[in-house]
Amino acid sequence: MGDSHPHSPTDPLDFLRLDSRLTPEQRALRDQVRRWTEARVLPAINDYWERAEFPREIALALRELPIIGGILQGNGCAGLDMLELGLVVQELARADGSITTFYAVHSGLAMGSIGLLGSPQQQQRWLPHMARLEKIGAFGLTEPEQGSDAAHVQTRAHRDGDTYRLNGAKRWIGNAAIADLLIIWARDENGRFGGFVVEDPTHTPGLHIQNLSGKVTKRAVLNAHITLTDVRVPLTNRLEHAQSFRDVARVLARGRYVVAWEALGAAAAAYEIALRYAQTRQQFGKPLAAFQLTQRKLVEMATELNLMQLLCLHLAELMQSGEANDAMIAMTKYNNAAKARTIISLAREIMGGNGLLIDHHIARLWTDAEAMYTYEGTNEINLLIIGRELTGLNAFV
Ligand SMILES: Cc1cc2nc3c(=O)[nH]c(=O)nc-3n(C[C@H](O)[C@H](O)[C@H](O)COP(=O)(O)OP(=O)(O)OC[C@H]3O[C@@H](n4cnc5c(N)ncnc54)[C@H](O)[C@@H]3O)c2cc1C
Repeated sequence: MGDSHPHSPTDPLDFLRLDSRLTPEQRALRDQVRRWTEARVLPAINDYWERAEFPREIALALRELPIIGGILQGNGCAGLDMLELGLVVQELARADGSITTFYAVHSGLAMGSIGLLGSPQQQQRWLPHMARLEKIGAFGLTEPEQGSDAAHVQTRAHRDGDTYRLNGAKRWIGNAAIADLLIIWARDENGRFGGFVVEDPTHTPGLHIQNLSGKVTKRAVLNAHITLTDVRVPLTNRLEHAQSFRDVARVLARGRYVVAWEALGAAAAAYEIALRYAQTRQQFGKPLAAFQLTQRKLVEMATELNLMQLLCLHLAELMQSGEANDAMIAMTKYNNAAKARTIISLAREIMGGNGLLIDHHIARLWTDAEAMYTYEGTNEINLLIIGRELTGLNAFV
């Protein structure tokens, strides 16, 4: 056959013919999200990223898709199955990490907290507005001094008549500056963990929100430093079923599942961009893709991508049937965040200097990979969750 082997472009996520495992509805939703990102996100996102500006209009246009609220049922939420949620996130991440984070924070962490831990009244009060993106949500757990050790948050909620008074600080909080509902995780005077919903945070006395500047990752989504000084929240705004850190950990576990799919989508995008580039860019009289060293990189990337995808698909089934445990979710996030970092870095390498320019999209994916490696539990923390399950010994402390 020599070098006349005809090249048939293959979707990196259908190399193992896994598309056939999806239902027509799942494929249709995935394709709908892909078409939407190609029309709405890709043409505009680099400029926002470069200016470190939140693309509000694009983010709000997500309401055109039947995806807000993710797996939550009722109250106007999308009611997706676990695999559909994964495919949605994969497609958003294939386009851009900042839009993915906006969606994951609003629809997953904020709406997810209310959906999983709020009373039916609280759900009816907030979720319909959030599902229509009339109200934006944020999730405030991390603190300046408590990152990975989130169970020991220092923020306090003291009961005072028919309100709680919140005091403390939060850091890295996505969507905070544009949020209508900000969930603050704090301990009350009895040491009990709780989620306190601050409504209209930008106009709430005692609450100061300062966007973090100089951020080199996820530049088109806003993350804030927050201080709370005697911020008053009505008693009815405490999430009724959030009693301990274990409860918020259930929300975080779903978040980890989402990041595993995000990593898959971002890595697939990087692979496709690098492959196209290597097929057209000529050096020494032939395409980069014709060099064995480049092929080795592409093959390693594609192989890892397929393994990441198999893990995601299998975890989706376990999540759907209720069989997934924390370690299984942590293992998928741990693997995929690490592999995405490697794949995207190889893509950048294949593109030489052009890989360092925003025009080619790779620079954005490359720096965003660092956030995936760090949030929803750093990869070290996810490793220790798996280690605890394997050994029966807790190495956190
Ligand atoms: C882009 C972005 C968006 C985010 N959005 C949000 C948000 O919306 N809401 C929110 O609440 N938080 C958010 N976060 C915060 C995120 O969850 C934290 O950054 C993360 O939990 C790590 O905390 P830290 O940065 O304080 O690092 P640290 O906890 O200080 O960790 C520093 C290093 O030490 C390692 N380490 C820590 N403990 C151990 C241990 N026991 N054993 C071994 N190694 C250890 C870590 O793995 C890491 O490598 C976001 C972060 C980023 C980067």
